[in-house]
Amino acid sequence: MRSVEKRRVVVIGAGLGGMSAAIMLARSGFQVTVLEKNANVGGKLNVLETEGFRFDLGPSIFTLPQIFRPVFEGDGKRLEDYVTLERVDPQWRNFFEDGTVVDLWEDKEKMRAELERFGSRDVKQYEEFLAYSRRQYEIVERGYLREGLDTFGQFVRFYGWTEARDLDYMHSMAGSIRRRLRNRYLRDIFEYFIKYVGSSALESPAFMNLMPNIQMEFGLWYVSGGLYELAKAFRRRLDECGVRLMLGQEVVRIDHDRGSVTGVQARGSDGATGFFEADYVVSNMEVIPAMQKLLGAPKAEMKKLRRFKPSCSGIVVHLGLDRVYPQLAHHNFFYSKDLHGHFRRVFREGRLPDDPTLYVVAPTRTDPSQAPAGCDNIKILPHIPALDEQRPTTREDYGALKEICLDKLERMGLTDLRRHIVVEDFWTPFDIEARYGSNRGSIYGVVCDRRSNFAFKAPKQSTLFRNLYFVGGSTNPGAGMPMVTLSGQHVARMIAEQSAKEAQ
Ligand SMILES: Cc1cc2nc3c(=O)[nH]c(=O)nc-3n(C[C@H](O)[C@H](O)[C@H](O)COP(=O)(O)OP(=O)(O)OC[C@H]3O[C@@H](n4cnc5c(N)ncnc54)[C@H](O)[C@@H]3O)c2cc1C
Repeated sequence: MRSVEKRRVVVIGAGLGGMSAAIMLARSGFQVTVLEKNANVGGKLNVLETEGFRFDLGPSIFTLPQIFRPVFEGDGKRLEDYVTLERVDPQWRNFFEDGTVVDLWEDKEKMRAELERFGSRDVKQYEEFLAYSRRQYEIVERGYLREGLDTFGQFVRFYGWTEARDLDYMHSMAGSIRRRLRNRYLRDIFEYFIKYVGSSALESPAFMNLMPNIQMEFGLWYVSGGLYELAKAFRRRLDECGVRLMLGQEVVRIDHDRGSVTGVQARGSDGATGFFEADYVVSNMEVIPAMQKLLGAPKAEMKKLRRFKPSCSGIVVHLGLDRVYPQLAHHNFFYSKDLHGHFRRVFREGRLPDDPTLYVVAPTRTDPSQAPAGCDNIKILPHIPALDEQRPTTREDYGALKEICLDKLERMGLTDLRRHIVVEDFWTPFDIEARYGSNRGSIYGVVCDRRSNFAFKAPKQSTLFRNLYFVGGSTNPGAGMPMVTLSGQHVARMIAEQSAKEAQ
């Protein structure tokens, strides 16, 4: 067996999950190579610069800075040496079809003032809801997040039944919201926190109500210069830690022999193929496509993964406008008339929404450099079903949905929006699948569903090969930039522990 210093790790993919694992492994003395099929790092954290507009194509909300710190700490450095974070408050502006607008403030006094118009009972219920959200977060953080628990069995062993009792797992997220809040606007707002993991509040377990606490307790942040600055910071860190990064290298096969993987076969953008030998392989390609395409896993194995259904996908519309809509905050939500109807249609029936809830980002509210003077830069994102062979969709279907979204925004106050478009960029689930290799165009890895997976995602260590690991949104703890970064840190620790044991 090689000494730890010489052990070679190949990481497939330079999303945040892959880069986080690579950095942490390199810092523990492993020799790390990252193979990324695209020409840039970051995966879904991606950017488009055109005609003076700078569009963050993927994430626009940065949360839980503390999770990113270990990746950037060391040699006297800290996260703040790589990126500048700006607090965004109001965090969300929420538009309803009846004309009501509710801002969600991190600032407690401003939030109280915002809700007083509905009466003191709603203020009290809101505050009690946040206390409940904090309790759910604290329980989940102590074990599932911090320890990197992967299975229901580990979960029960860690928490025991006493603490598990405090975890709200018997109800759905929407059910618990309904019992705690009578205000219909607050109900919709808190249900839509499930957007962070691309799932339905009707199907997700109630402990997912921990999400408001993440935002309210630790803040909602913008990365100065645009979110892609975070990807650049990860890249700088790769270089500093001595990771070999190879862009334009698509891994087409993982080789294995008697229960161990031995390396990967990659095809360069020039068509040439090469073999990269490895003692450990970390896949930032999602578990299901990797098992199918890189390992040719047998049907029986694929069947076991059925419970990890893809999260939703989305159409993503980036618009450069020749005017500013001053009513927009940085982060905005335009709700469906019937949010439960929207969840049912997208997540139960697998149909495109006819009245989607729209997430609309206008980053110039915090950072005017994202559009030319007097212009605006907005991203529109409705959640829609992942691609499904049983229910095929076409680019035309997605084009028609885009028109529904524009109609809705024009109706809800962005008057003449179409007339002010000077730049347009449009992504469909086909593009998301092709660019990032995600499972059926999913945006957030695996869907949270209390019946099929209890919000667990696939385990980080392969059940077939002792030295194959997975990171990113399809593994625990799941999707979103902080969670995938955490999965990379956990996998680095797991590999270091395994390697130390095997060296004995
Ligand atoms: C439109 C949109 C909005 C979002 N909004 C937010 C938000 O506001 N906040 C938030 O926290 N999160 C948000 N997310 C989710 C977040 O982007 C993801 O959870 C996270 O970035 C995924 O990271 P990852 O490491 O799992 O994988 P990815 O980012 O998918 O990276 C995987 C990488 O692996 C590469 N790869 C795949 N297969 C191969 C192969 N065979 N060979 C070589 N390379 C390969 C891909 O090219 C890619 O670079 C959003 C996502 C999208 C798309």
